[in-house]
Amino acid sequence: MPGFELFGDLERKHVNDVLDNGVLMRYGFDGMRNGYWKAKELESEIEKTFGVEHAQLVSSGTAAVSVALASAGIGAGDEVIMPTFTFVASFEAIMMVGATPILVDIDDTLTLDPEAVKNAITPKTKAVMVVHMCGSMANLNALKSICDTHKLTLIEDACQAIGGTYNNRALGSIGDLGCFSFDFVKTITCGEGGAVITNNKDFYTNSDHYSDHGHDHVGNDRGAETHPFLGYNFRISELNAAVGLAQIQRLSEFLEIQKKNYTVLRNALSQIPEVTFRTVPEGGEESYAFLNFFLPDLETSRRASKALKEAGVDGCFHYYDNNWHYVRKWDHLKSATSLYPVSNEVKEGLAYLSEKDFSQSDHFIGRNISALIKLSWTEEEVKDRAQRMVEAITSAIN
Ligand SMILES: *Cc1c(COP(=O)(O)O)cnc(C)c1O
Repeated sequence: MPGFELFGDLERKHVNDVLDNGVLMRYGFDGMRNGYWKAKELESEIEKTFGVEHAQLVSSGTAAVSVALASAGIGAGDEVIMPTFTFVASFEAIMMVGATPILVDIDDTLTLDPEAVKNAITPKTKAVMVVHMCGSMANLNALKSICDTHKLTLIEDACQAIGGTYNNRALGSIGDLGCFSFDFVKTITCGEGGAVITNNKDFYTNSDHYSDHGHDHVGNDRGAETHPFLGYNFRISELNAAVGLAQIQRLSEFLEIQKKNYTVLRNALSQIPEVTFRTVPEGGEESYAFLNFFLPDLETSRRASKALKEAGVDGCFHYYDNNWHYVRKWDHLKSATSLYPVSNEVKEGLAYLSEKDFSQSDHFIGRNISALIKLSWTEEEVKDRAQRMVEAITSAIN
């Protein structure tokens, strides 16, 4: 997945353009810029690449999800449905706007189970945040139809599936709003950065203003701009955008490498009868950022995870026993442990987490191993890795 592996001359060229004029900020200073507007240029590249009307760059993927929620008018008193398997940014963003995260089960796609979403809808539900984890997507047709029926906003977190498609449309471009991260380990990187994409003009205008203190961006005197509503600072810097501008030009190259490496590993693992793979919904094409597979049970997966480490195969994650991506270890969320007071509404809204049964999610995450696909491997390294993976997994099964 990581674009940082292939940082090169094109990235340096765009960064040097910015260093030459010294304008590190994306807004204003028109006369000093020598015509360089890296953030603006990257926004139009994102629009073209992902086939959307509007893109708003921000400072991170977490900022993108927060800005998307704010732009859709989601806040205090609202519930947002999100998956048990995701990155902590999902609930961080929801709680930042004062809303309550409602975690629901995933299915064998490793993303939101549409049935679980349906069952979690209450009169307070305002949005569904689907997270396309580890390079592949949820059943978007099913989720879209649920959102249409109940008049809910569909937000796609495509941070880990940049370049994946569903019915030939880019992931992130299908819901009302889509979010990307360009942090240092994502398929394309800005160092730090993110983007909100949408075809909804109002949501875009809201994102544009909200991510820059509510500035209306009319004219070229920042001090004279009005503030139609409250905002915050989630701006990306011109230097970070410059790196992204080089990387997005290489996206199709990155995706091709990912697919090639993924295919070698998948073909090798397919020879083990006990190994099965995640379901990719009909019409979906993965970004191939990860290869996700299931083993027969939790204990086998634990043994396989250990055997893979011992065999020196890095980048294979058993999320069930990992603190990052799965509800099981999110004690700070369950107890709403915060540096500052959390509203009673959200605190009470989170109480369900101490009791709720997520055995359906456990069933999938307990048996899943996610193998990161790197871009820098040589053909020989991929083949060698495939062989070591087969040996380690086979030893864990027998
Ligand atoms: C990386 C990631 C984010 C957050 O992105 P940052 O740029 O690191 O803030 C959000 N959601 C998912 C699924 C991610 O993988």
